[in-house]
Amino acid sequence: MAIREGRWDCPTCGTVGVLGRQVNCPNCATPRPEGVRFYLPEDAAEVTDSAHLARARAGADWICEHCDSSTPAAEIRCSGCGAERGSSPAQGTHDYDLDDIPRDGRERRAAPQPALAAAAPRRRRWKTPAFVVALVAGVMWCNGSKKVEATVAAADWERAVEVQDYRTVREEDWSVPQGGRQQRSWRAIRDYRQVLDHYENRTRQVSERVQTGTRTYTCGSRDLGNGHFEDRTCTEPEYTTKYRTESYQEPIYRQEPIYDTKFAYEIERWLPNDTVWARGNAAREPSWPAVKLDDKEREGARIEKYVLHFRDKDGKTYQVEVPLDRFSRYRPGQAVQLRVPRVSSGKVEIVEPEKE
Ligand SMILES: [Zn+2]
Ligand SMILES: [Zn+2]
Repeated sequence: MAIREGRWDCPTCGTVGVLGRQVNCPNCATPRPEGVRFYLPEDAAEVTDSAHLARARAGADWICEHCDSSTPAAEIRCSGCGAERGSSPAQGTHDYDLDDIPRDGRERRAAPQPALAAAAPRRRRWKTPAFVVALVAGVMWCNGSKKVEATVAAADWERAVEVQDYRTVREEDWSVPQGGRQQRSWRAIRDYRQVLDHYENRTRQVSERVQTGTRTYTCGSRDLGNGHFEDRTCTEPEYTTKYRTESYQEPIYRQEPIYDTKFAYEIERWLPNDTVWARGNAAREPSWPAVKLDDKEREGARIEKYVLHFRDKDGKTYQVEVPLDRFSRYRPGQAVQLRVPRVSSGKVEIVEPEKE
């Protein structure tokens, strides 16, 4: 991995850009302090000299507990006072990601503020685009309605009673119901069942994700604690999609008929024969039509429908179908308020007065 020489700034005299390998400030001779911020200029060249590389790879410098001088890890005596290392501590090391490798001496290594400051502008407030506002407003307008003052112009009602008669009919079924008189019977297909007939050899394309190798890339830099930085490498698997033809057996089914006995028979049924109507308007209370039945007839279903007609001051007409109890509440000439939808497909409603 490539090694590059970093720099440090002297906190005592303010000299900037001191070479990483230098353990004393070239201006004021102060020993490079413990915890100094090493940084790596963007254009720092790769170290190629073997002795220099060995110095960088030896490990973090140690800091003399007697005179504060820094000494390369490979040396056993202090470069400042000649004392043995003893329990002297080592300069710290640190791993950086690509984005936060220090490029100058201005900030402290552990300061978390720059990362937060950089993240803040990304937290933008989501603004609703104008066309969405217009669309929502449009939908609300379509769903909306307006109130219209109108008067009851007319009221129509109709009621009907179905008349059924008792008749002999001919039917067919898989059995003869009670009361039926069998005419004939025969074999017929009642249903089909799926029967496995055979298997067919077929092929299909299948895809699979296959690891083809591993990619190694530079993902950061390591402050070696001796004025030098070494590239950090990370790896990730690389994949490709491979296709292959797979053979398989497809089951093939056939339809097999299921036979049963079918019957034709005669039977008496009540069936609709006629409908008797009664119609009227506001001048007549709704009533059911008079139905005359003979002994082979009976009443079937009943239907009823009540429609109120309205007219507004512009002469525009509206009609509303209502249940009987509401129909009886309105008389021609009566003023009402209508809720009219803005789209013609909507339903007109009567605004009912608040009950007291
Ligand atoms: Zn200095
Ligand atoms: Zn010393």
